[in-house]
Amino acid sequence: MKLIVDDNKLDNIKRKAIENYVPILQDDSLKLIEVILHMIKPKKILEIGTAVGYSAAIFAKYLEIDENNKEGSYIKTIERNEKRFKEATENIFTLNLTEYIIPVFADATEYLTNLKEDDTYDVIFIDAAKGQYMVFLNEAKRLIKSGGVIIADNVLFKGRVLGGYNEHRHRTAVTRLREYIDNINDDKTLDSILLNVGDGVAISIVNK
Ligand code: SAH
Ligand code: MG
Repeated sequence: MKLIVDDNKLDNIKRKAIENYVPILQDDSLKLIEVILHMIKPKKILEIGTAVGYSAAIFAKYLEIDENNKEGSYIKTIERNEKRFKEATENIFTLNLTEYIIPVFADATEYLTNLKEDDTYDVIFIDAAKGQYMVFLNEAKRLIKSGGVIIADNVLFKGRVLGGYNEHRHRTAVTRLREYIDNINDDKTLDSILLNVGDGVAISIVNK
C-alpha cells in the first residue's frame, strides 16, 4: 500500500517555505530522489534536516507499507530549530501523516549517536549543516541497512566545493563537503555517484 498525500497542501507548504527563505529541496533534486525512492520502495527512511517537513511529506508517498505491519514503515526526521520543528509538526498533522512521519526535535549530531545498530534504515537523507556532513556520513554508514542508499543534498554548495574556493567565510563547510565526496569515493563498501543536479546530490549504495 502507498500513501496519498494532498498535493494542494504540499504546494501551500512549499510556497510558504520559499517565501520565508526556508532552504527546501529544489525541484530537480527532489525529482531525482523521488525516482530513486520509487525504485527502492523503502520501509524506513531517516532524514537529517526536516526544516518544515516538505521533503519528508513527499518521501511519504514512496513508503512501502505492509497492510499487516503498518508500524514497520515510517520516516524519522530530525530538526534542531524549534520554530521549524513546530511548523513541521503542524504540517505533518495537516497532511494526516502523523502515523508515518516521526519528527524529532534534536541536534542530529547528538541524537544519531544514541540510535542503535538494530534500528537500521533503507534510505538515509542528509540535508542539514554542511560543516557536519562527515559526522552525519559516519553515523549514516552505521545506521544504513546493507543494500541501502545514503543520499546527501547540497554537496556542491553553489559550485564552491569543486572550485578553488578558500575564503574564510564558508571554509569549514567546503572542507567538510570535499571530505564527504572523497570519503564516499574511497570507501570500498560504497558505490557512489555525485550528480550536478540542484545544489549537488551524492548517492551512495551501501554494501556492508
Ligand atoms: N529537508 C528539508 C530542508 C532542510 S533545510 C526539505 O527539503 O524540505 C536544513 C535544516 O537542517 C534546517 O532547518 C536546519 O535547522 C537543520 N539542521 C542543520 N543542522 C542540523 C543538525 N545538526 N541537527 C538537526 N537539524 C539540523
Ligand atoms: Mg538541501
